[in-house]
Amino acid sequence: MLEHLQAVPPDPILGVLAAYNQDPNPNKIDLGVGVYKDEEGRTPILPSVLSAERELLERQTSKSYLGPTGVTGFNEAISRLIFGADSPALNESRIRTVQTPGGTGALRVAAEVIRTANPDARVWFSDPTWANHTAIFPAGGLQSGTYPYFDPDSNGLRFDAMMEALGQLGPNDAVLLHACCHNPCGVSPDESQWREIAELAGQRGFLPVIDMAYQGFERGLDDDNLAIRVFAEQCPELIVASSCSKNFAMYRDRVGAISVLASSAQKAADIETVIHSLTRKNYSMPPAHGPAVIDIILHDDALTAQWRAEVGDMRDRINGLRAGLVARIAASGVERDFSFLERQAGMFSFLGLTVDQVQKLREQFSIYTVNSARINIASLNQANLDYFVSGLKSVLEG
Ligand code: PMP
Repeated sequence: MLEHLQAVPPDPILGVLAAYNQDPNPNKIDLGVGVYKDEEGRTPILPSVLSAERELLERQTSKSYLGPTGVTGFNEAISRLIFGADSPALNESRIRTVQTPGGTGALRVAAEVIRTANPDARVWFSDPTWANHTAIFPAGGLQSGTYPYFDPDSNGLRFDAMMEALGQLGPNDAVLLHACCHNPCGVSPDESQWREIAELAGQRGFLPVIDMAYQGFERGLDDDNLAIRVFAEQCPELIVASSCSKNFAMYRDRVGAISVLASSAQKAADIETVIHSLTRKNYSMPPAHGPAVIDIILHDDALTAQWRAEVGDMRDRINGLRAGLVARIAASGVERDFSFLERQAGMFSFLGLTVDQVQKLREQFSIYTVNSARINIASLNQANLDYFVSGLKSVLEG
């Protein structure tokens, strides 16, 4: 039977990484990979996480099964973090959060929850979106489509076109939105635009599904959930898929959560049983280590303060790099206006290069990006910024 299987081509980003790893050029830069890096190019364990891991090691007496909800202290703390501690829906017990294996796991469970509720539902993605969205939701049994989002001419949002497309949708549709730090384009709606989108969702009755993989990386932990708070006010139902991979730097521990806001406390409780039944058939129970660590951090004032400062440092470094990059590109004499990089946020932006220019960057300068010219800003640092700008200038002028 298995001889019928054919090899699947690798993810293009892995090809970029493999080529980078083999390149002997000491000045090489990998702008493809999607993890945060510090000024030294490392992705260290956050000190708050390390302290909590030590404490967990002391405290933990058993690794017996926890059950389908996983670490309940984590679920409760994440609900407060992503909806805001003063969320009316939280006080009305209309929100249920269940930990999942990473944000990816949360998205897959979300797809299955939607399919269980309505097998004919269609999910709509921003054009463009994180490539894995377009794989996860069909794998979870849903049909999909796209709505206009990024405008490569202005490097901003196609808000009117987006609203027109969303205005055609209704109760059989789910709309996937990025809460902040849009991957891959770095562009988010502003507050009044979020309010208009949420109002439209309320009027048309489509289900908002919010992916929050970068809380704390745009304006701050308490501001980056703006979209979620606005949708929770305007819509009776909402799904949030959140990830702790970036803001706790716990990528390989696979920590995330699905949160469902329902029209009543009873409905929320019912939906949680649906989530448990779906995950039971898949991975049975979620992994506990990462959530147990985060449970410790978020229930300890000193560790919470330390972690918040660490997230602030990562955000400030990215925003500082964005400003530095814009200034150095302008100072180098490049004619094209790159000031949009400072108006965008998070780790990712498009440089707006052709595939030919991307290849020249790779071949002539050992600067690696995916063909879309999406770059991870956090891969830059004071030591490689000038080299990157000289490579960029050369391919733009060549
Ligand atoms: N959503 C988006 C937009 C992402 O960029 C990522 C990570 N690259 C995820 C979800 C999933 O993150 P993870 O499964 O690693 O928690």
